[in-house]
Amino acid sequence: MKIALKLPVALLLLSNVALADPNMRWARLPFKQTLDMEVVHEITSSKPEQLINLINRHGVKVLRVVTKNPKKPLNPTLAGLEVAPTELLKNAEFDESDDGQMVAKSDPYCNLIQDTILIRDTALNYTLIHEFLHSAFNVSPDSKRPDIDMKFRLAYNRLNKYKDALFREPTNLLNPLWRRDILDAEKGVVAMLFSRIELTLSQEAIIERILFKLIDPNNPYFDGDRQNVGMEYGRFMINKAISIYSTAFETITWTKNTVDSFEDQIRLRYIIPLKGDHLTKTQALSFQAASDKMLTELAVIGKEIEGLKRFYSNW
Ligand SMILES: [Zn+2]
Repeated sequence: MKIALKLPVALLLLSNVALADPNMRWARLPFKQTLDMEVVHEITSSKPEQLINLINRHGVKVLRVVTKNPKKPLNPTLAGLEVAPTELLKNAEFDESDDGQMVAKSDPYCNLIQDTILIRDTALNYTLIHEFLHSAFNVSPDSKRPDIDMKFRLAYNRLNKYKDALFREPTNLLNPLWRRDILDAEKGVVAMLFSRIELTLSQEAIIERILFKLIDPNNPYFDGDRQNVGMEYGRFMINKAISIYSTAFETITWTKNTVDSFEDQIRLRYIIPLKGDHLTKTQALSFQAASDKMLTELAVIGKEIEGLKRFYSNW
């Protein structure tokens, strides 16, 4: 069984995913991540009664989240686990709709001494394996910043706020302060976008895709409905990455073109700037240079998203 599982995966890795290591232990994945396939195979070919021990052996703790009025059957594998403290659930933002969550020990809000999985008492082992696999990734050092998710959310909200205001009133771009603010907002998102997609969005999709492939109907963890939901979830995550990327791309392109065209119109005296507004040729050029720099950075991310889409349909 083990050999039957391992052989096709190794072949697929050769054909579809470049390898980081000649011994094929680390699969190189979109967003420059690598995944420890040895751990992946170990966990997906384990026996359910060994599952918790195996996860613990890899240095990851598992805590059970108690459901008040469970509508689904309780998972016996999780029955003996220590219950997650309410305080931790609150700090990790684990809510009623969540089945599982991996909380890194580096999370600044949770104060943990080891990586910890919060798992709902009714969750399937499949979901527990999903959470555990987050720990088998080797991510780029930048993305390890524990507050990246929260910081990105703030930056993205800020970009949307400025973008909406400028779409409503494009002539605000005649004002140097508005131009400074929109550039800052765009830079804030572009600077963190790679990490944000790498850590949260791409990993979700990659894990679901790998489990879909490796956990077949003969595997004790197989659950057809869970797999379908997982594949939908993965697609949703990729679409979310595309949507964030597109918002950044369209905003930067639109502001760049609008500033360029305003500068033309001022020179031709089609527009007479109001008091406080001014846009010289030099200012327009520097705005464009800043925009082009961000578009170059975005192109790298766009390529990784393409790679992620390919991975999702071909792996
Ligand atoms: Zn996940």
